[in-house]
Amino acid sequence: MFNPYQFIKNKKTHNSHKSSEISMFINLFLDKKIEPSQMAAWLMAVYFNGLNKLELNEYVNSIISSGEQLDFSNLDGFIIDKHSTGGVGDKVSLIAGPILAACNCYVPMIVGRSLAHTGGTLDKLESIKGYNGDIDINQFKKKVKQNRISIIGQNKDICPADKYIYAIRDVTATIDSLPLICGSIISKKKAEGIKGLILDIKVGNGAFMKTIKDANELGKALTNLANELSIKSNFIVSDMNQPLGKSAGLWCEVQESIDFLKNNKRDVNLNEVVFKICKEALKISEQKKVDSLITNAIESGKAYEIFEKMIFSHNGNLDTSYNENIPKYSFIYNSPKEGYINKIDTEKIGYMLLEIGGGRKTTKDKIDPSCGLRINKKLGDKVDYKEPIIEIFGAKKDKIESVKKMFDDIIFISNINMSKKILTIYE
Ligand code: URA
Repeated sequence: MFNPYQFIKNKKTHNSHKSSEISMFINLFLDKKIEPSQMAAWLMAVYFNGLNKLELNEYVNSIISSGEQLDFSNLDGFIIDKHSTGGVGDKVSLIAGPILAACNCYVPMIVGRSLAHTGGTLDKLESIKGYNGDIDINQFKKKVKQNRISIIGQNKDICPADKYIYAIRDVTATIDSLPLICGSIISKKKAEGIKGLILDIKVGNGAFMKTIKDANELGKALTNLANELSIKSNFIVSDMNQPLGKSAGLWCEVQESIDFLKNNKRDVNLNEVVFKICKEALKISEQKKVDSLITNAIESGKAYEIFEKMIFSHNGNLDTSYNENIPKYSFIYNSPKEGYINKIDTEKIGYMLLEIGGGRKTTKDKIDPSCGLRINKKLGDKVDYKEPIIEIFGAKKDKIESVKKMFDDIIFISNINMSKKILTIYE
């Protein structure tokens, strides 16, 4: 007879769970026979005492089997996805996804919304007029087959247990637990039916991981679990001490991604991360001459063609999105003195974007698709007195007014250029 009280107490007192106890606990929770308070208590016990390898495998498998598992084995290419731990201006999924699809892969991508100070790929895609990322898994499967890529949000069919458990973690300070993060991310990836996974672990003052050591630890834990579940995976650690690329926000990031895919303008750091991600992903897929494959996917226009086809098949209208998303108000932050950009508080930039409508403080909040910022100067760049550094824009004048004063605590300028050592990728 399963005793939830004893089960929670065991984790609290460092006793390992017996085989199938975790799946019983999760199934009873889904049947509403375990109370949310009991789930919360167990999650907190896991937060402090962790899960051993067997427990973690059982936890992740229970979450996977709470929903549907996709099967793409009938497709004639490698099935791969890319996941980032989140940052500011991180539009790599929008660019790398179509490139991988143009390099003989299929990319079923289930993405998240903005979380705390970090932006969400689905929110960015929804700034495209009409884009529908809320489709059922049969439509998702069809779109992956037709377009080689589909990007949607998590729905009720994929890992519902994760959705309920995540909601409890969110309000009980148990998000930042290594086994719970791994279980949550990798369960959804396994359910997507992928064979390969490339992870972008962000590190720095705008990332959840603040040190390279922590980033590597998370990368290893995620790839180990993915490999256990027969998903060939690898990770990179990339910098988040400044926004990635030239823009951060919603429609402005889609525009930057389009420019990249059309081979018009490519920010140096963004280019480096996109190429590294795609190279590692294509190595997982066991393809050769990966550099030229990627370059050709962009220069031939094939990656952009795939992007456009995917947007269109999700009812997105790129032609009218441009006009709809012209921001009404803007403010330019000019340099208060001559010098070098020495530090950018990237987390504060993320929260500033949240404040002007780039994210949600409550689930009911509406996003302003026109809002965002364009950054002209990056770490190490020289600036003259009164030279424009950042332009921030959006639809709400009062919000833009309210964040103006934040810039003096975000951008730091010194007489000495100290940021030469800033890397984009940490090998
Ligand atoms: N993203 C997820 O999907 N789950 C986590 O636990 C953390 C980030």
